[in-house]
Amino acid sequence: MEHDILSTTGRIFDIQRYSIHDGPGIRTIVFLKGCALRCRWCCNPESQRFEVENMFFAGKDETMGYDVTVGEVLQSVMKDMFFYRRSGGGLTLSGGEAMLQPDFAVDLLKACHAEGINTCIETTAIAKWEVIERFLENLDFVYMDIKHMNNEKHREFTGQPNTKIIEHAIRIAASGAKLTMRTPVIPGFNDTVEEISDIAKFVKMLPGSPHLHLLPYHRLGEDKYKGLNRDYFYAGVPPMDMKHMQPLLKAAQREGVECQIGG
Ligand code: SF4
Repeated sequence: MEHDILSTTGRIFDIQRYSIHDGPGIRTIVFLKGCALRCRWCCNPESQRFEVENMFFAGKDETMGYDVTVGEVLQSVMKDMFFYRRSGGGLTLSGGEAMLQPDFAVDLLKACHAEGINTCIETTAIAKWEVIERFLENLDFVYMDIKHMNNEKHREFTGQPNTKIIEHAIRIAASGAKLTMRTPVIPGFNDTVEEISDIAKFVKMLPGSPHLHLLPYHRLGEDKYKGLNRDYFYAGVPPMDMKHMQPLLKAAQREGVECQIGG
């Protein structure tokens, strides 16, 4: 019997419309639940665990995580066809890490393509290569994080080594995917000229020389940690200011990479 992709189920925690920072044009972002990393600065801590959980936020208890079919998500995504057509936008998968729910995520990408909606993912690409290939066949744009070139520091601040991430960035770039690399710039983690230069050197040598987006640290997720009864490593640390970002931007540009601040 033929597989009905619209009935494949997955677990998400949010759908956001009218985004202009997560891929080209005006986009709908579908946030999938579950992540392999535990970044100390994560602004979506409710994304990290796959389990459904309660979060007290903005004065009320909210349930984070619900199960949906591809067909249900597609209905939401299709509400903004007009904007996608006018702006070159479409669907972006985010999280969490969408590659941890490959059956649901890939079927959603296929369903969007069947409706003429372009597709993008925000990912760290920590998955088996066979899984990543399934995604690449159904993606128009890939936004991939590269957080640090030093393996030990990467492990200390995210809970995972960077070896697979680096290997997969090279393979994704070599596949011909339309790849953009992104680096969240985090105080005390990767916010020096040397650290950003190292990342820019790596990005410059990738096949196709992708662009690099430097995303300044912000603390918009801080209240969510309280709402989840978890400690926030960066409690009280102010957002990254532009005076600090400018030399980092210049350092990346000196390495010959096309770079900008923000997504
Ligand atoms: S990879 Fe993204 S979603 Fe996962 S923990 Fe890090 S910042 Fe959060």
